[in-house]
This record gives sequence, structure tokens and C-alpha cells, in this order.
Amino acid sequence: MTEARDLSSQFPSIQYDSLTCIFHPQSEAEIVQLVQYASAHDLQFRVIGSGHSVVKSILSTAQGAINISLDQYRAVTFNDDGTVTVQAGCFLGRNAPAPWENTLFYQLEQKGLAAPDMGGITHQAVGGFTTMGCSGGSVQYAYTDSIVAISLVDGQGTVHAYRQGKDPEFEAVLVSMGLMGIFSTLTFKPSERFNIIGDETCYALDDVDCPIDFFGPGTTDKPSLEQFLRQTEYTRLLWWPQKGAERMVVWKAQRMKSEDYDGLTGTPESFKPKPYTEFPVILGSQIPAQVAASLFYQLSAGWRTLFEEWIPAETPLRDLLEALIEATYETQILPFVINLFAPVFKRDVVTSEPVPPPPCPFGSLFSDEVRVIELGRNTGSNPMQGAAAQGSAGRRAAGGPVLRLLDLEAASQTGSTRVTSTPIDLWNDVLARMPGMNEQLSKLESALSERGLKLPRYYHLHAPSEALQGLQAGSEAASQEPVGTQRFWDNWYGSLPMDNDVSDFLMPTEFTELWIPLEKTQELMNDLRDFYEKGGFKATGSYSCEIYAAKANDLWLSPAYKQDVIRVDVFWFHDIYRSEDELEAFYQQYWELLRKYDFRPHWAKYMPEGDMGAGYLAQRYPMWKQFLELRAQMDPKQLFVTDYWRNALGIPQVNP
Ligand SMILES: Cc1cc2nc3c(=O)[nH]c(=O)nc-3n(C[C@H](O)[C@H](O)[C@H](O)COP(=O)(O)OP(=O)(O)OC[C@H]3O[C@@H](n4cnc5c(N)ncnc54)[C@H](O)[C@@H]3O)c2cc1C
Repeated sequence: MTEARDLSSQFPSIQYDSLTCIFHPQSEAEIVQLVQYASAHDLQFRVIGSGHSVVKSILSTAQGAINISLDQYRAVTFNDDGTVTVQAGCFLGRNAPAPWENTLFYQLEQKGLAAPDMGGITHQAVGGFTTMGCSGGSVQYAYTDSIVAISLVDGQGTVHAYRQGKDPEFEAVLVSMGLMGIFSTLTFKPSERFNIIGDETCYALDDVDCPIDFFGPGTTDKPSLEQFLRQTEYTRLLWWPQKGAERMVVWKAQRMKSEDYDGLTGTPESFKPKPYTEFPVILGSQIPAQVAASLFYQLSAGWRTLFEEWIPAETPLRDLLEALIEATYETQILPFVINLFAPVFKRDVVTSEPVPPPPCPFGSLFSDEVRVIELGRNTGSNPMQGAAAQGSAGRRAAGGPVLRLLDLEAASQTGSTRVTSTPIDLWNDVLARMPGMNEQLSKLESALSERGLKLPRYYHLHAPSEALQGLQAGSEAASQEPVGTQRFWDNWYGSLPMDNDVSDFLMPTEFTELWIPLEKTQELMNDLRDFYEKGGFKATGSYSCEIYAAKANDLWLSPAYKQDVIRVDVFWFHDIYRSEDELEAFYQQYWELLRKYDFRPHWAKYMPEGDMGAGYLAQRYPMWKQFLELRAQMDPKQLFVTDYWRNALGIPQVNP
């Protein structure tokens, strides 16, 4: 870090942030200048986009490393031949760390153009999204298909320009994890702008009327999952496999054709979008569901730690509550909460006013005390600093919110914002709605009353104000539709990225994502189902698994190289209460289970190591050797090779 500070004086004209130790070049010439300096002085060199990848894959923490962000290098130029040249620091679309007007998608939309596809979020920078081989959920359209040229700065500061179909290097460098050079510009041949229409429906896995045969070969009127993934323009599934939940949320959409427009949608000229809403109305819509979901996941992982802080060790209350939660978490609490957020579609059941719960039969269980639960910023003993703390990954690595239980007075001094207009009533809003709870509560009540103890009944929620920006408390329109389903129609950049409103702070999510040949879908789905049934909670965890697809391409190190794929994307809630070892042990189960499918892991997400590390990958990419040879030519001094990437790709040290 000290050397990085000194370095800034070498480049007085290049923007430098001394807090993060990151340079912000504004031109290709400035990038070249920095790379040449790094090359002359044997310094590592990396770029951060929006920092959404696994944290170790992004920047270098080596002594003296030069880390840059291209957020000031983001111009979009519309060329006469219909192509669009974009500087690699330009962010893709909405909710990026830049104003919407500066993003690529805004500027495409202004010209009546569009990207053919995108991922579930559009916060990423063009360079970071492209070099990691990212993709949306479609076998029919691919983001990378629209890229026709690239220019990059290699490890000696030389600028190369490659064109698709003309230069073989194009296919080598487009997906290269920042290891071939720094992407300077990308040139796109965009699509014409379009609107999409679709629906999301949550099916019970045993629903015989479900229109997709998730586990079988399909029939004439019900496609197999493989057929469904091939036939549907845009789709993704969220599988909630937990015992008692067992459901699949199917999101699907298509580009709107003239016959899709009606009185509700308006015409193409007077289109009235009804955007997709990811989070449903819960608890009577008084609080944004995302805050409630965040609270639940923090509590799921952290309740033991919190009990140690909140309840003095000598009180029997701690033992009683621990026993209660252990007895009910997997069988009652988890299925109940999943049902709140992903209620199953039952065709004729339409949302109605919530039935008022019965009066509380456990008079002596609760006191009327009001407490505050704060989803606070992690200001713990070892907050991350500097470059590695930047972006979404830095925020995730800091571990999501810390839960604090405060009294009203203490909470008023923390500066956080109250989310709840009326406090959550532990009985009315939660326990009374959880089937099978009464028996447990009556045991708890008698044990508490013997000791003259009570539980506080009312809770306000607080969160930092910046974490609440843009969160909605559930839409009225959504609540008019049958339970478990919603229709939506929207412009291309609005609802194709269906996870765009998920907050990094409230829902810090890590992933491992395995790309498997699409023709293996049926066998794969059955293996996963067996794994969940046999493994129970250890296999499922409490979060969901995303299933989607990607289109084959010719990019050497794309996990979709020469094959359409189904992708198994396993979610892990990155709370502060569990260790990285627990995360890796959870993922290890999936890596071992799915190894037989020759999966290729997503480069931006958790990847296996050891016997599924570089040696394994080398066998799965036909152009592996050629990639490494070209890489060595482009970056002979290994500026871009951090320890993380050396290990991941098995790149040998260069001789001094
Ligand atoms: C909530 C969430 C949802 C996601 N959804 C999807 C999805 O639907 N589909 C999907 O495929 N992926 C998805 N991802 C993964 C995400 O798209 C990747 O992590 C992507 O690489 C992030 O782009 P970024 O701009 O944040 O890049 P970063 O994470 O900042 O960087 C990624 C890599 O690219 C390098 N890099 C960045 N810019 C350049 C450049 N100009 N030249 C050379 N190297 C560069 C960095 O050094 C790093 O190695 C998701 C991730 C999250 C957290």
C-alpha cells in the first residue's frame, strides 16, 4: 500500500484515490502508461469493474500492485456502420454504481437499440462482465454474440485490436479473466430495441398439472426441462428443495410480437410497462420484503451467536429458546418462511385480505416491550480496507449486516432508519401463522412463567438509510393476481435482469455455478433431486438453487465453448456468522456430486480446487493449452497473474 501511494506521484495527471489505492485512468493512453510502468517495475496489475465476482478474483493484494478502475473510462460511440464502441469501464444498466444516463443500456435505448441478452443484474461493467464469460438465461440469444471487435492493452503496454471472424485471437481473448490484458474498448452490433412479456409461477414439485416435466423425458403436451430451456427465449428457475417446501419458481419471457399487445399493455407506441417484481407483499406490505428476508437469513445463521449476546448465560431462557428453535427450524420455520416469499401457485386461489390471527392464547408468554432489531453496518474489529474492500464483492466479504437488538432509546442514537411504521408483532405477524407452533409455545410459556420471565412481543426494524434506497414495500398490482404467479411486460432493460433490485448489503449472496451439457438435463435433475432427498438440510441449506441455460459459442475459455449448457447456480447467503470453510464444505458436496457431468465452473464464482482445480479444467477446455501459450506471449512478465489465478489455471512462475 505504501508503494502504491508513492506511485501516485509518478502519475500526477492520472486520478488516484488514496483511500482505496485505486487509479482511475480516463483514456487508453493512461492505461498504457500505467501498464508500462508496472511492466518496467515487475508489479502486478488488475482492474475492478463493479466488483461482483468472487473477491479474490478481482484485484491484486501483492505489495506495490497497481489496481485500476475504469469507471472514468466509459464513453459510448455510435459508429456509421451501425456498431457501437464502448469503453470497458462503462456500466451495463440500471442500479450500477453510475447514473443510469451514463450506462450502455440507457444510451442504446435512446437510439432504439438493445443488447440481445444480459444477466440477472445489470450492475456490472462491460469489461468485467465480458472477460468472465457471463451470460443471461437463454439458449436463443447471447450477449457475447453481439460483440464484434475488441481492443486490449497487453502486459507490455501494447494495444491490440481484434475482430470477430477475422482474427483468431478474438476468440481467445474475449473470455480471459483479465489474464490476457486490459480490455480497453468493445464494439457491439446491437439488436433493435424490444419489449418483453412473460410470467413467473411457483410450482409444487408434485403438481401434476405443471406444464414442464422437470424430471422426465417430456410428453407431447408437456416439454421436458431440456426442451423447455431450448424453446423458451428467456428463462430461469429457482429451486427451493427443502423438505416441506419442494417447489420450483419458473420465470419466463419472450420478445413481444404484435399479437402480444392488448388493452393492458398498450400499443408499442404507447406501451404501459408492468415490470416484474421479485419480492412479494409480506406482513401486510408494511416493510420491504427484502429487509425481512435479510433479517431471516441473518437470524438463521446467527441466532446462536446472538443468543449469547442477548440473553445472559445464567438464565434458563437461552436453553429453552435454543431447544425450541432446534426443534422447529427445519420442519416449521424454514418451510413457513419460504412459503411467505415463494407461495405455491394453486390456480384458483386469489390473494385476499390476510385472515386475522386468533387472539393470543399465551397471555403470560409475552411482555408488551418494544425492541428494535437493527440490520447494521459491520464496523467490527477487522473491517476490510483499501482496494480489496471495493465493489459488491468487498461489501459481501465484509459479511452483510450485523444484527443488533436495542431498546428504543439506544436505537434512536445509532442514526439508522426505521423501516417499520408499526412494530412487528411476534404473535400476530409471525408465530400465529406458523403451523404447529402452539404446542411448542405452550411448553415455553409454562417454563417461562415458572421463572417469572417473558418474551418482548413487539419489534421495529432499522437499517442504514442507503441500504433502503429504491426498496418497495410490495406492489398493490401484484397482490391482485392469483397466489404464486405474476404476469409482467416491460422494456428489454427493465425486467430481463430480474434480480436487479436485490441489494448487495441486505442479501449478500455468493455462488458456485456449474455449466453442464444441456443434453444431460434429465439425468442431472434426477441426481440433484436424489441428493436433496437423501442429504436433507445439509444438502439443501436454507437458500435456493438457480437453474438456467446458456447458448454455445466459440470463445476458447467460455464454459459454453461449443456446447449449449444447463447451469446449476448454488446460492449461499454470505452472513457474518459462518466461516468461509463452511461455505466451501457446502459447495464441495455439489462439486463432487456433479463432477461426473464434466462441469465447467463459472469463472466469476466459487471454483473447486485440488483435484478439480487446474488439472481438471485443462481436460475440459479443448483450447486450454493454446490459451495458456497465447497468454504467456501477451503477458510475459505475468503482470496480470495473481496468486489466485496462478493457482486456478496452474500458471507456472516465470524464470527470474
Ligand atoms: C448478484 C449477482 C448476480 C449475478 N448474475 C449473473 C448472471 O445472471 N449471469 C452471469 O453470468 N453472471 C452473474 N453474476 C456474476 C457477474 O456477472 C460477474 O461477477 C461479472 O464478472 C461481474 O462484472 P464486474 O463488472 O463486477 O467485474 P468484476 O467482478 O469487478 O471483475 C471481474 C473480473 O474481470 C476483470 N476485469 C474487470 N474489468 C476488466 C477489464 N477492463 N479488462 C480486463 N479485465 C477486467 C477483473 O480483474 C476480474 O478478474 C452475478 C453476480 C452477482 C453478485
